[in-house]
Amino acid sequence: FSAFFTERRNSTRSRQKATHPPRRTSPANATCLLHNSSKKSIPRMAASSLSSPLSISNPLRRFSLHIHHLSKPKPIPSLILCSAAKMNGHIYRVPGLDEEEMDSVAGKTFERYALPSSAKRNGKGTAIVWFRNDLRVLDNDALYRAWSSSDTLLPVYCLDPRLFLTTHFFGFPKTGALRGAFLMECLADLRKNLMKRGLNLLIRSGKPEDILPCLAKDFGAHTVFAHKETCSEELQVERHVNQALKGVGNGTKLELVWGSTMYHKDDLPFDVLDLPDIYTQFRKSVEAKCRIRSLTRIPISLGPTPSVDNWGDVPTLGEVGIEPQEVTRGMRFVGGESAGVCRVFEYFWKKARSSPEIFRRLLRRCLCVYIMLYDLLKVYKETRNGMLGPDYSTKFSPWLAFGCISPRFIYEEVQRYESERVANNSTYWVLFELIWRDYFRFLSIKCGNSLFHLGGPRNVQGKWSQDIMLFESWRDGKTGYPIIDANMKELSTTGFMSNRGRQIVCSFLVRDMGLDWRMGAEWFETCLLDYDPCSNYGNWTYGAGVGNDPREDRYFSIPKQAQNYDPEGEYVAFWVQQLRRLPKEKRHWPGRLMYMDTVVPLLHGNAQTSGRSKSGGFRGSHSGRSSRNNGRP
Ligand code: FAD
Repeated sequence: FSAFFTERRNSTRSRQKATHPPRRTSPANATCLLHNSSKKSIPRMAASSLSSPLSISNPLRRFSLHIHHLSKPKPIPSLILCSAAKMNGHIYRVPGLDEEEMDSVAGKTFERYALPSSAKRNGKGTAIVWFRNDLRVLDNDALYRAWSSSDTLLPVYCLDPRLFLTTHFFGFPKTGALRGAFLMECLADLRKNLMKRGLNLLIRSGKPEDILPCLAKDFGAHTVFAHKETCSEELQVERHVNQALKGVGNGTKLELVWGSTMYHKDDLPFDVLDLPDIYTQFRKSVEAKCRIRSLTRIPISLGPTPSVDNWGDVPTLGEVGIEPQEVTRGMRFVGGESAGVCRVFEYFWKKARSSPEIFRRLLRRCLCVYIMLYDLLKVYKETRNGMLGPDYSTKFSPWLAFGCISPRFIYEEVQRYESERVANNSTYWVLFELIWRDYFRFLSIKCGNSLFHLGGPRNVQGKWSQDIMLFESWRDGKTGYPIIDANMKELSTTGFMSNRGRQIVCSFLVRDMGLDWRMGAEWFETCLLDYDPCSNYGNWTYGAGVGNDPREDRYFSIPKQAQNYDPEGEYVAFWVQQLRRLPKEKRHWPGRLMYMDTVVPLLHGNAQTSGRSKSGGFRGSHSGRSSRNNGRP
């Protein structure tokens, strides 16, 4: 691996221009300012309710909202309270189960969703399943169809060197060290789970269009099954593979299967190219007119294993040209399907949290003390806007992005939870968020490459700065605004940032700094464990006010966000060392003596800071509407 990837890395810049697909050959204003100056100025960072039971009219909710869970609490299997105190100074493994418990939970989940052993395959010959961003066994339609249409199945993963090149405009590493490590863990776990079913995973380094035709020829495969992608880089690979398979001469077909969304693309009540421009219209339409398909059950045994001389090793990061990075603080996510299903188990079924606020409210109504403990899922809607710790939101996104768990699996687990414990606004809200994920995926088909262009899907014209100093202060968490700096430090240390944090730092980069939003989006592409082109560029275009919905053009006021989402300054003190010794009320506004000068004044409401702009980032054409939350994710 090593030689192969070193050679690729060394030649990235020159090749990149030639090999990038049309998505990146963008409009005239997509200049490469940073590219030119990047040698000196962009160092390669280590590539590394209890809700009030309101009635919501919604067909997804086949239940009537009630409060019986208040009066008849069910026993909670175990209690783990995760607060800032517990996080302090710790690395928090997500999921928090030990290896033995992980094995047991994953084993039981696989059994629960297994196809009965009486199920028979009816195909002949060999089929290849080409794993891409679907690194799972459960609910994997490509795997199921390959199994049922053959008598021998060859699972393959190609470590495509293009994954380890650089981002298009600004030359950041395309895969940071933490996501790289997560990927390797996913591959090791996929291999383990396939071996439990009598198979293995063939791991080869190289382009799929080079590897798959050779394998198809050697094994005489009749079909290569894989999951369909939607963005141009991935579509280009599909086209190359299709073309190359034609050259093999034994009639091997490429069969692409849809499988990344909760609602199946074929079940949409409109052509995907007519997708509504407004999320709420999309959601209401699918909720009213579509059914979510059951997840695909996979047999316990998938064998026999084809005869292969060398299955290949999961490479080390060094072998793909990435310098490893340790998580030194905050959450450490474990890659792989087993960890993903365990996180669902932990969040839905195992963990509980206390809520002092709810406790107080309940006490006034003279209810018992013991109902202050809630399953995390039961209070998700109230906690999801948090920023600190593993429990305020599901943290499913890294496993969803790599396809280690499917949204349909989460949906079935929500249904099971609703029938066994409780159905409320929170259980629905997880699905509401997953519909956002679906929406961005379908949007990527409708919008095509405009999702990656400066003007976005609406081709909004504006002047944007590419000021390198400003960008670096944002990237490195040195803007002088603790809430921005803490979030950016969390991102580079763990590969994760809360949804609240992402919205705040995006608004700050775009509105307060006036920077080209693609700089932020590409930095997220490098760092995020859950990077997914549809959700990332979809959210960034919304945040930059260039998305398909003109109403999604928001300014996030730093003072307001700090006050609402980190009133005690716990989050900023966790990530910014200097702030720990300050009293709580000073942590968001420490001043230049206790912390540092601010790099730009805020566009609106800089009352509590004294910073002056040093570099004149553009802040011109946006109206900078004040922050509002209209139920956006
Ligand atoms: P939860 O709150 O528990 O939500 C459950 C699931 O719903 C998530 O795992 C995710 O799959 C989905 N979801 C929630 N919010 C959104 C949303 N706004 N858009 C799409 N799906 C959503 N999400 C990614 O998965 N990959 C990205 O690359 C990505 N980039 C983003 C960039 C910006 C600027 C912003 C504002 C948001 C981005 N998001 C992205 C969406 C969102 O921030 C994350 O999905 C969420 O923070 C993941 O944490 P969670 O799993 O605990 O979410």
